[in-house]
Amino acid sequence: MTSSDLQNLYQQVILDHAKQKHGYGLHDGAVSSSRQVNPTCGDEITLNIHANVDGEVQSISWEGHGCSISTASASLLADIVSDEPREVLTAKIAAFRELMQSKGTIDGDEELLGDAVALAGVSRYVTRIKCAMLPWVALEDALARA
Ligand code: ZN
Repeated sequence: MTSSDLQNLYQQVILDHAKQKHGYGLHDGAVSSSRQVNPTCGDEITLNIHANVDGEVQSISWEGHGCSISTASASLLADIVSDEPREVLTAKIAAFRELMQSKGTIDGDEELLGDAVALAGVSRYVTRIKCAMLPWVALEDALARA
């Protein structure tokens, strides 16, 4: 695949997730919750975390509105949270933050981040990084409160 093929594929992943929002709709029984806003773009998210019997984070659910980058990022995040110990999630958040701060110099760890590596290109646009980070910051905050 050429790099422009990859770019197109990534764009498609983002568009698909912005439209088909995984994890959308807040579920009851959250162990913790966080609301975050990105005033520069107008993005808003409320994110709930749900635990399984072992106390691992079973899933997240979220609601909000904003640009396609923040929406796709929340949907992609929902896909990679599945029965995970807190330290694994912390590692995923750190890996995503590193990717967003990379200014396009790294591709992202697909093993940790799954399809969320499709957002790698956002790191070249300083004004959009907050959009992509918003759901991850919400997860980090919700974990801190849990
Ligand atoms: Zn935005």
